[in-house]
Amino acid sequence: MKILKIDHLGIAVKSIDEGKNFWTDVLGLPFEGSETVQEQKVTTAFFPVGESEVELLESTAPDGPIAKYLEKKGEGIQHVAFRVENIDQALAELKEKGIRLIDEKPRIGAGGAKIAFLHPKSTNGVLVELCER
Ligand code: ZN
Repeated sequence: MKILKIDHLGIAVKSIDEGKNFWTDVLGLPFEGSETVQEQKVTTAFFPVGESEVELLESTAPDGPIAKYLEKKGEGIQHVAFRVENIDQALAELKEKGIRLIDEKPRIGAGGAKIAFLHPKSTNGVLVELCER
């Protein structure tokens, strides 16, 4: 498995409209627009930072994963995403090493990336996303 870099940090917010001001107005990061991923009940907004990005996540439904996260933990870092060279190979390798996978097969996330999540029980409590673009 080859990890290329930290692709992005996923941050759960109540509202992208309100939440983005810190990242754009205060930190001066460019705002590259938002995108809704219907099957995950989430709207995402990306803010490039050097080779990586900040991803703000806003729920589109009260039963979505981000709504549940906000209810339990409030706003904050929800996941860390690593870009890998080959996501299918990475998942097969991690499975063989006994890592619990949330997604056995990659699905399509924001920006058309192939993504898959690893279970926090196997990763020191961090929700880890793998992505291939
Ligand atoms: Zn993400």
